[in-house]
Amino acid sequence: MADTRNLSLNTATVREQWSLAECIDGCVRHGIPGIAPWRDKLAELGAERAERMIREAGLRVTGLCRGGMFPVANSKDRQAVVEDNRRAVDEALEIGAECLVLVVGGLPEGSKDIAGAREQVRDGIATLLEYSRPRAMPLAIEPLHPMYAADRACINTMAQANDLCDELGAGLGIAVDIYHVWWDPNLQREILRAGRQRLLAFHVCDWLVPTRDLLTDRGMMGDGVIDIPLIRSWVESAGYDGACEVEIFSSRDWWTRDPDEVLDVMKTRMEKAV
Ligand code: ZN
Repeated sequence: MADTRNLSLNTATVREQWSLAECIDGCVRHGIPGIAPWRDKLAELGAERAERMIREAGLRVTGLCRGGMFPVANSKDRQAVVEDNRRAVDEALEIGAECLVLVVGGLPEGSKDIAGAREQVRDGIATLLEYSRPRAMPLAIEPLHPMYAADRACINTMAQANDLCDELGAGLGIAVDIYHVWWDPNLQREILRAGRQRLLAFHVCDWLVPTRDLLTDRGMMGDGVIDIPLIRSWVESAGYDGACEVEIFSSRDWWTRDPDEVLDVMKTRMEKAV
């Protein structure tokens, strides 16, 4: 089973209870060595202060969530997306993040053209790579479960993400979030295909049965149906030796609890269920 030396707290897990400053303190208090902020939390604290606090706390930043949302309906929106994604790269650099996670976006408003959306994603990432590559900030495509194809991400499998990496080259990799890809019959093959170079992040939580909300009913590791140790073994056999980041959206359960309890349970489950 996994130990807690590679554990990282994705701030989404306690986003309703804690600010980024409280998350940093919480990680220190609980001996959790990594953190992965979301940009809204980072903006509240300010990147400069966040960088100082994280550095003084001795935490590694396993990723910044998130850039992306590439497909747009018109060219004015496209320029805004380009600029926002460049800012995201700058913020990731400022806090020393190991990668910028990309949630690539779904269909533009009013569109039914998912193939066109996927083309916009490819072009958007290619443009962003021109900015991120010389600055040495890796971009990590996070394939999302197909139930989010319309509104969050039209890249839904590891195979799609690997194909984009093949096409667009250096500086691009993948964030494997087991919540989104656990069901994929080609998962093991595609994790091995990605290999050490491309595997930039590993996000864990669990799939609850039944799932009562499409977005905010993710489970704590061990409470659902995903064989997490099996998937972790595939990722590790592909050469991944980075962090195990806990990212749980849970409006009915974990977001209602004392965050110190959430972190305690996370650590225990890391040892028992990951
Ligand atoms: Zn994730």
